[in-house]
Amino acid sequence: MTQEKQRQEKGKQIALKSDLIRISDYHYQVHSQTTNRDYHVIKTDEVWHCDCPDHRFRKVCCKHIHAIEFSLKIREEVRERNKVTIEPVSVDSCRFCHSKNIKKYGIRRNKHTAIQRFSCSDCHKTFSMNIGFEKMKHNPKGITTAMQLYFSGESLRNVAKSLRLLGMDVTHQTVYNWINKYTKLMNQYLDKITPQVGDAWRADEVYVKIRGELKYVFAMMDDETRFWIAQEVADRKEGHDARGLLQKSKQVTQTKPKVFITDGLGSYHEAYKKEFWTLKRRNRTLHIRHIHLQGDMNNNKMERLNGEIRDREKVMRGIKKKDSVTLTDYQLFHNYIRPHSALGNMTPSEKCGMEIKGDNKWITLIQNASKK
Ligand SMILES: [Zn+2]
Ligand SMILES: [Zn+2]
Repeated sequence: MTQEKQRQEKGKQIALKSDLIRISDYHYQVHSQTTNRDYHVIKTDEVWHCDCPDHRFRKVCCKHIHAIEFSLKIREEVRERNKVTIEPVSVDSCRFCHSKNIKKYGIRRNKHTAIQRFSCSDCHKTFSMNIGFEKMKHNPKGITTAMQLYFSGESLRNVAKSLRLLGMDVTHQTVYNWINKYTKLMNQYLDKITPQVGDAWRADEVYVKIRGELKYVFAMMDDETRFWIAQEVADRKEGHDARGLLQKSKQVTQTKPKVFITDGLGSYHEAYKKEFWTLKRRNRTLHIRHIHLQGDMNNNKMERLNGEIRDREKVMRGIKKKDSVTLTDYQLFHNYIRPHSALGNMTPSEKCGMEIKGDNKWITLIQNASKK
């Protein structure tokens, strides 16, 4: 075996033993196989650099770098194997006798919608189906356009105005009712699917004004996929018990991270000790208390989420009704609908191995959530 082959083989063993931790896209820590120290492997200009002697003095692609490359490959393979694909729902059987022997039978039109009708060759009945949008006066495209506009930052009043230009005469209250109805439906459906997040998570807090009162949103995000795992609203920043956030995150993902990155806030470490710490060193989550540094690539990820939450808050302000559209609804948009430029225009859920097919992700989700 050549030395290069040996290093590859050793790298593979390290990856299989999970003797490495991901701190960010550009930073890994790999446990030394011969001593008790950890090596830092850092990516600059698309090239990995390790601080082990092999790499520093002999300039070779060391086993630690091989370990990272191998581990990335394993992760991709696991996601591919466990991939969840959500397909658009098409009408394929009779509403009455469930026969598959159906054919298209004209289009039913009213003022705002056009729905495909079918006729059954077995029971001879005709029917129309508009899965998820039954009894709605407006068509799925218009309704989902309204949702897209709203979650992209338009106020409810502006959304209603835009729809009027498209010939849909609706009030902002109607738009609000649609958003409320459909996000609830989609969330119930999506809650049953476990996202395959990575193993380095970040928590951060951002202050927002909710109905005139200053509140803190504590949010948990997966570093690799940008999947927004959980969040909770607190009255204050200092002294808040963050344990609920960590519990919720474990429940959503059915796992816990290998690395937990936060700022210096004491609440996180208290919660960490109770929810992520284990007696056995092998299973223990590492808590990195990160100090905010300007220009730090990693904090920018959280900053972006904070910006998204604040933008949303401006739009929510106009709502008088007590139960306004909540952060959970915006979380749905962030995770499942909005493409992320840093993820090569994938959504965080796609990065987590969950693909929503069809031209309109909203419609696909609503159909699947309504399917009996
Ligand atoms: Zn190395
Ligand atoms: Zn039939």
